[in-house]
Amino acid sequence: MIEDRSDRVCVIGAGYVGNGLAYALKRAGLRYDQLEATGRIGGNWSHGVYDSTHLISSKKSTQYVEFPMPEDYPTFPSAAQMLAYLESYVDHFGLREHLELNTEVVRVWPADRNGTAGWYVELADGRTRHYKAVVAANGHYVERNLPSCPGEFSGLQLHSKDYKRPADLGTGDRVLVVGAGNSASDLAVEAAATFGSADLSMRRSYWFIPKTMVGGIPASDLDRVWLPLPLMRFATERLIRASVGDYRRYGLNRPDHRLFSKDVTATSSLFHALLHGKVRPRPEIRRLDGDLVHFTDGSS
Ligand SMILES: Cc1cc2nc3c(=O)[nH]c(=O)nc-3n(C[C@H](O)[C@H](O)[C@H](O)COP(=O)(O)OP(=O)(O)OC[C@H]3O[C@@H](n4cnc5c(N)ncnc54)[C@H](O)[C@@H]3O)c2cc1C
Repeated sequence: MIEDRSDRVCVIGAGYVGNGLAYALKRAGLRYDQLEATGRIGGNWSHGVYDSTHLISSKKSTQYVEFPMPEDYPTFPSAAQMLAYLESYVDHFGLREHLELNTEVVRVWPADRNGTAGWYVELADGRTRHYKAVVAANGHYVERNLPSCPGEFSGLQLHSKDYKRPADLGTGDRVLVVGAGNSASDLAVEAAATFGSADLSMRRSYWFIPKTMVGGIPASDLDRVWLPLPLMRFATERLIRASVGDYRRYGLNRPDHRLFSKDVTATSSLFHALLHGKVRPRPEIRRLDGDLVHFTDGSS
């Protein structure tokens, strides 16, 4: 039997975006249900980050405008602070009333050809509901994306979503981090600080942006969405150069693509670790062979 909820909106997810949406709907006087697969609110900040995670974007540029972060929070709050902040947002605006935890959505489809008659939402427990509208705020870091490399690796392999703390790397005497996004950079630095050194394999070049630029200003505070992209690009490239200089000083390749045409990596600690020889850059993996990893430059 289909439950009739066609007088309300279905919000999928209770992460940063889902909670903000729930409040926007509440403020507009619209009826809604908020469905969250796990037993907690907070999304990534409750189950997708490692213990040592700190915001990459600043407190000022990340907080909800209608609910600023506590004054005693630092410029780059920790994961624990982020989670506490998200919990207090939900409580402050009384959002738990329409929140259903442990309620996973497994399928959504339109009630008519173009969706104007509402949407059907199927839950993991087999129930189906009919809603006026559906907002998917299920996050984009839900699925693990593992690279495929030829050969077999016999050591411990871990996706960053499953990494919580250095003990997860076992004895960690030789750690290779694959990829150089935000999580990878943090993990390489943390592994190097814990075990003495770590390698970082990159199959492409990256734009690395220090978390703070000239004058100690957080890079995310310089983001001006109203600026035309070419101008934003021009200014940011110059600020990066003034803050860290040429990437080749760190053993990194110069980017082969335009700034902001792909995700950028925001990190200050990686530059420090590279200059101290704690993190060693490596090219793409060519082949895995037991506990050996062969790289495209012939090293292993
Ligand atoms: C290490 C790390 C550092 C980060 N640092 C920053 C930063 O500094 N600044 C920044 O802005 N962002 C950062 N992010 C990105 C982070 O994902 C966002 O801050 C934020 O969590 C995105 O919110 P969201 O609501 O879109 O998604 P999520 O936080 O992923 O929340 C989605 C929610 O939907 C739920 N869900 C998924 N599928 C279903 C389903 N089928 N049914 C019901 N519920 C479902 C999930 O359980 C989850 O609770 C970082 C991410 C990581 C991993």
